[in-house]
Amino acid sequence: MRTITCFDCDHNFSAETSEEVLKKLYTHYMAEHHEIITSVDEAGKKAWMERFYAEWAQA
Ligand SMILES: [Zn+2]
Repeated sequence: MRTITCFDCDHNFSAETSEEVLKKLYTHYMAEHHEIITSVDEAGKKAWMERFYAEWAQA
């Protein structure tokens, strides 16, 4: 089980796999950071995913 902290608040999410934690983060972003998820461009999405995988690798 690994834990990752939301990049935009201090919520923690734990899961066994990156797919599982991404699903939880996505639901959280839709609920709590809707503006971020709807205004982000492709470069921003790519940067977010790169940061996610870098942090997940070290979690
Ligand atoms: Zn958050």
